[in-house]
Amino acid sequence: MVQDRIDEIIEILNKASYEYYVLDKPTITDQEYDKYLKELIKLEEKYPEFKRPNSPTVRVGGEAVEGFDKVTHEIPMLSLSNVFNESEIVAFDERVRKEVSNPKYVCELKIDGLSVSLLYKEGKLIRGATRGDGITGEDITHNVRTIKNIPLTLTEPIDIEVRGEIYMPKESFKTLNEERARNEMDLFANPRNAAAGSVRQLDPKIAASRNLSSFLYHLPNATEYGIYSHNQALEYMKKLGFTVNPNIRKVNNISELLDFIAEWTENRNQLPYEIDGIVIKLDDLNEQHKLGFTAKYPRWATAYKFPAMEVYTKLRDIKFSVGRTGQVTPNAILEPVTLAGSTISKTTLHNEDYVLSKNIRIGDIVSIKKAGDVIPEVVRVLEERRTGNEIPFEMTKNCPICGSLLVKKEKEAAYYCKNEHCDAKKIEGLIHYASRDAMNIEGFGDSIVEDFYNMGYLKSFSDYYSLKNYKEELMELEGFGTKSIQNLLDGIEESKNNSLERLIFALGIRHVGKKTAKILASYFKTMDILEEAQYEELVNIYDIGAMIAKSVVDYFNDENNRRIVELLRNTGVNMSYLGKEVSAKEEFEGKTFVLTGSLESITREEAKEKIEAVGGKTSSTVSSKTDVVVVGANPGSKYDKAKSLGITIWTESDFLDMLK
Ligand code: NAD
Repeated sequence: MVQDRIDEIIEILNKASYEYYVLDKPTITDQEYDKYLKELIKLEEKYPEFKRPNSPTVRVGGEAVEGFDKVTHEIPMLSLSNVFNESEIVAFDERVRKEVSNPKYVCELKIDGLSVSLLYKEGKLIRGATRGDGITGEDITHNVRTIKNIPLTLTEPIDIEVRGEIYMPKESFKTLNEERARNEMDLFANPRNAAAGSVRQLDPKIAASRNLSSFLYHLPNATEYGIYSHNQALEYMKKLGFTVNPNIRKVNNISELLDFIAEWTENRNQLPYEIDGIVIKLDDLNEQHKLGFTAKYPRWATAYKFPAMEVYTKLRDIKFSVGRTGQVTPNAILEPVTLAGSTISKTTLHNEDYVLSKNIRIGDIVSIKKAGDVIPEVVRVLEERRTGNEIPFEMTKNCPICGSLLVKKEKEAAYYCKNEHCDAKKIEGLIHYASRDAMNIEGFGDSIVEDFYNMGYLKSFSDYYSLKNYKEELMELEGFGTKSIQNLLDGIEESKNNSLERLIFALGIRHVGKKTAKILASYFKTMDILEEAQYEELVNIYDIGAMIAKSVVDYFNDENNRRIVELLRNTGVNMSYLGKEVSAKEEFEGKTFVLTGSLESITREEAKEKIEAVGGKTSSTVSSKTDVVVVGANPGSKYDKAKSLGITIWTESDFLDMLK
């Protein structure tokens, strides 16, 4: 049994390695690969008697490809061990501390490219080689010479070997894949595979056209040049004319090391090249020597790997949902996977065109990425993993909830359910009404609104305000107590005092978002006046276009909508604009703000002071307690987290508007 599993994993890993290193065309993700490898390591530790001599746990991954001259590395080019979380980093440090007291580490970005060895004789580049299997690599001198920041001549006429990474910048990768798509060629899965494929071209013109670049980070024989620390080696490499990555930091302890990791986990997307982790190296070369190597890794270094930004998983089904406007959306139901720290089991497929253009079928293995690092998206299908049993997609013709025939508008990709009485539309409308940016009635999330709707307590907006009449009954419901119902009712009563713009937004008038609602409220001051507004007057308001104006007029021309507003008026909901002072206070007082990204017209300190001046608080971490995240240019992971927690997000200009 154990031997079978070990052999099975070895087979999977060997196949993956071949596809990755030789074909430059992986069919499983790095995370899947790492997961199998971890399982194999565990099994081999527990059952050493079943360990195979050719196991991938003891061999450096690649192999030299036919067609290139072979090169033997006098000092083997090894890989790096991996750590994936804080406790594994601490365990690495503890292992080091067994040999070295008070170790100091150098932290570097783990450039997602391929390693290269460069040999210079009397200061002249004479050979460039890939790592291969660590002992035998491929001679790629002809291609290395085309990489602009690899010096052909050093500043000193010495014999030396340096090692580092060749990579493809994100921009070059994008251009290359766009060009390949135009020419109907296979796309490269990522910049790493594209870089590896480029240096393994027989014709140097091709490599030259690929805009590769390099960072050098290792001197195998450093002590021969009178160097005693890794940091010194990096400085010397710079002096010789190599490009050394500027984001390198020597740290004094684990806490500083974790800070470095946290910083780059947040900022990695801003780099013009991809990194897949942080490399941690013992600085002192004597200490490095003490720790030595395994057959595959140095013991004095390790690589912390970032959580996955792309994962592959099975698309189990496509299910349709109906939004508040009646738009019917196909959603991918996925075999749950972890992506950048959160579990994903469902994601939107937007509309019929999106699914057909990507040729997505039920049963496919798909690649999921966080689009703009925020919402998970199905980016492509791994057609090579199809079995033939996949089911082609067909857009539904009927509303999945009420069954009515869907309507497709001209020039729009979306289909709509036009049935005014469709339950799904009503539920979504009710959820929107209570949401944070609308009437902000705390506690009314998706499932509670749906339950109350199905039980008959909530059918229209004004029903929120009648819930108090059923207080006793509601308190009897499973999962609710006296306190939670009272909190809901208090929140409802409180919402009656909102300024008009919240109500306008809450009504769900097509094309009227939060910002437009505010413009309308501050211009018309009361709901009565807005209800009677004419198209001409509306289009003349700054920032209100023809589409919005028409939509507002249409909305209030409909008797049903007038009735909805009238019922709300009767419950005592405020129908007036409460002015800027009150609204600024309302937007800030008692709320917690997090600032992320770089703000242009105001410094962070000034922004903090302003928030505090109107009664708000600031914090540096995003959690469920955060009320608003203000996002500047190039935001990092705080932005992602805010999105995933459904926290209100303001741009810098929203923020300044609110403060006015
Ligand atoms: P690795 O990529 O995990 O780490 C070692 C490499 O990091 C070094 O060889 C070097 O090239 C690179 N590196 C980048 N920046 C560095 C720096 N500043 N200092 C030192 N080294 C730096 O190891 P590997 O052996 O190259 O590859 C193994 C990994 O490749 C696996 O863990 C897996 O994630 C991936 N892989 C994936 C597949 C697949 O099918 N998806 C197959 C095989 C391997």
